[in-house]
Amino acid sequence: MCDHHEHAPTDLEAPEPQAADAAAPQEEHEKGRADFDSDEAYQLYCLRHSAAHVLAQAILQIWPEARLAFGPPIQDGFYYDIDIPGVTISEDDLPRIEAEMKKVVKQNQEFEQEYWTKEEAIRYFADHGQVFKVEHVGRLPVEKVSIYRNRRKDGGEFVDLCGGPHVRRTRQARHFKLLKVSGAYWLGDSNNPQLQRVYGTVWPTREQLDQYLYRLEEARKRDHRKLGHQLDLFMFHDWAPGAPFWLPRGEFIYTLLANRMRELLAGEGYDVVKTPLVFDKKLFETSGHWEHYQENLFHFPEGHYTEETQDAEQAHRILALKPMNCPSHMLIFRSKKRSYRDLPLRIHDQGVLHRNELRGTLSGLTRVRQFQQDDAHLFVAEDQIADEVGTLLSLVDRIYSAFGMTVEVNLATRPEKKLGDDALWDRAEAALREALDASGRPYGVHEGDGAFYGPKIDFDVFDALGRAHQCATVQLDFNLPRRFELSYVGADNQPHVPVVIHRAIFGSFERFIAILIEHYGGNFPTWLAPEQVRVMTVSEKSLPHGRAVTEALQAAGCRVHFDDGDDKIGYKIKMCHGMKVPYMAIIGEKEQEQGTVSIRSRDEGDLGSMPVDAFVARVVAESALPF
Ligand SMILES: [Zn+2]
Ligand SMILES: [Zn+2]
Repeated sequence: MCDHHEHAPTDLEAPEPQAADAAAPQEEHEKGRADFDSDEAYQLYCLRHSAAHVLAQAILQIWPEARLAFGPPIQDGFYYDIDIPGVTISEDDLPRIEAEMKKVVKQNQEFEQEYWTKEEAIRYFADHGQVFKVEHVGRLPVEKVSIYRNRRKDGGEFVDLCGGPHVRRTRQARHFKLLKVSGAYWLGDSNNPQLQRVYGTVWPTREQLDQYLYRLEEARKRDHRKLGHQLDLFMFHDWAPGAPFWLPRGEFIYTLLANRMRELLAGEGYDVVKTPLVFDKKLFETSGHWEHYQENLFHFPEGHYTEETQDAEQAHRILALKPMNCPSHMLIFRSKKRSYRDLPLRIHDQGVLHRNELRGTLSGLTRVRQFQQDDAHLFVAEDQIADEVGTLLSLVDRIYSAFGMTVEVNLATRPEKKLGDDALWDRAEAALREALDASGRPYGVHEGDGAFYGPKIDFDVFDALGRAHQCATVQLDFNLPRRFELSYVGADNQPHVPVVIHRAIFGSFERFIAILIEHYGGNFPTWLAPEQVRVMTVSEKSLPHGRAVTEALQAAGCRVHFDDGDDKIGYKIKMCHGMKVPYMAIIGEKEQEQGTVSIRSRDEGDLGSMPVDAFVARVVAESALPF
C-alpha cells in the first residue's frame, strides 16, 4: 500500500489545529522543555497556551454564562472553544473581546498552578456552570488534576483546568490579535453540541506580530483561487466537483511544466509511458488499494449497466479509475523477463488520476478529484539505491532553486509496525544516509516516521511567504514488488526482488501550480508567464508600428497580445496591469516615428523607450527556462 501520493497534510490555507489538540488538551504528563525541538518552540507554546487563558477570562467577563471547552495552542496561535447559550459571536465582537483581554494583560496576573483532587475540581466547575470541564475532569485517568489560577485586580479570579506550562504573567502575552470565529463540535464529534471557536495569534514581540499579520494578509491577497479567476487560469463547475477546467492561460503553464519535466527526465534516462485510466479491480486487489483505499476509488460495473440489469451486478467485472500510477508500472516491469542489466528501470508517467475525495474537503487546486503528477517509479537493485537517490536530491535542488524556493530535507526511518526484516531496513536506511551525506547538505532525521513498507525522504519546500509545502517525494517500497511478485535475474544468475522507489518532484501539477500562483502572487516570471508582452497603441495612427512590433515579437517566439482597440491608453494599461503581464509595449506617435517601443516593466516600472530589437532580445533572454 502506497500512501506517498496522499495529499500532503500542509495546506495553503491557514493551518487547522490537529485533532489531537482538542481531544487531549490535558496530557498525562506535563509538557516541559524536553518535549520541544528548541527553546523558541517551547516558549511559543507557553505563550500561546497562556493567551488562550487570557481569551477565556475575557469572554467570561463579557458573557459570565459562557461555558468553556478546550483552548489549546496551535501553529502560529491559539483558540478557545466556547458555548454561550443564545449568543453567536461574530467577527464584530472581536474588538470588544480584545479590549477585555488587554485589561487582563495589563493587570499582569500571575499564572499560579495548583493540584486539586478530581472531586474538588468537579465541585468547583459544577458550581461555576462549566459543564464541559466537569465532563472532562470525570474522564481523566488521574487522581489529581492540574489547575491554573489567575487573580483579577477586582478580587475575582479565573480558574482553568490545564496541564500547562505557561508564561509567568499575563503581560507577556500582550502582542496578540484575534483573527476569526468558526464552528466546532465538543470533542470533535458532530453528534455533540456545537461550539464556537475563537482563533487568535500571539507573539513575543510587536514586530513578530506585525510580520505575521502581514504574511496573513499577503496570503489572503495571493489566494490561488482568487488569482486563478482574476488571471483567467482555471475554473470549476458544480457539475464536475474537484476537477479543474484549465483555461488557455492556465493550460499554458500546466503544459510548459509538464513538457519540460518530461524532457528533463527523458534526458536523465527515464522511460516515458502512458498507462490506462480504467482497470479491473483485480489490479487494486493485488496492490492492496482495494482493501485499504476503496472509499477513494471511483468504481463501477463493466458493461452497459441499466436498471434491468442491475441485479446482474455480481456477474459484472468491477472497474475502477486509477488513483495512482504505481500498480500499472508494476505490470510493465512484470511484462518481460528482467535482468540486472535492465536496472535501474525508471518509468515516468503523467497519467490522469482520480480520487473520490469528499465534496466538503475539495478546495481550489489544492484538494481535487482529478489530477496529474510528475510521477515515476524506479526499479533498482539494493546497491543502486544510494546513487539513484543522490541523483534525485540534486534534481530536487536544481528544480526548486529555479523557482526561488528553498528545500529542507528529512530522513524518515522505520516505524514500529513495519514490513520486511531489520537487515533490509538497515541497508535501505544506510543507503539513504549515504546519499544524503554525499549531497553535503544538512538534513534532519524523523525517527519512526517512515511508511510501513519503506523509509523515505521528506522534503519541505519553502515559498516566498516562508510557508512550508510538501511536494517532492522519495519513498522506498519493499511491499509492492512482493505483492506483484516482481523479480530480476542477478549477476549471480539467481532471481532477486527489486526495490521500488516512488518519486515525484512537483507532486501533482494542480497543487504545485496553486503553490506557484501564491509564491509569485500571480507575477509569473517572463519564462513562465502565459502572456509575456502586451503591445498597446495610443491611437489609430500608431497601428502600423504596433502591428510590426507584435510581429517582431511573435517571430522571435515571444507570447504577445496586441491590444489595438479603441480604448484610452490609460484603460488599456489598467487592464494589462490587472493581468500581471511582465511587459507593456506602448506605441504612440513618437515611437511610430522613431521606430522604437516605450516599455513598462511590471517589476521594474518605466524603462523608457528602446529600439524594438533590443526589447525583443531582452524578452527572448528572459524566456530561457531556468531548469
Ligand atoms: Zn493552559
Ligand atoms: Zn507510486
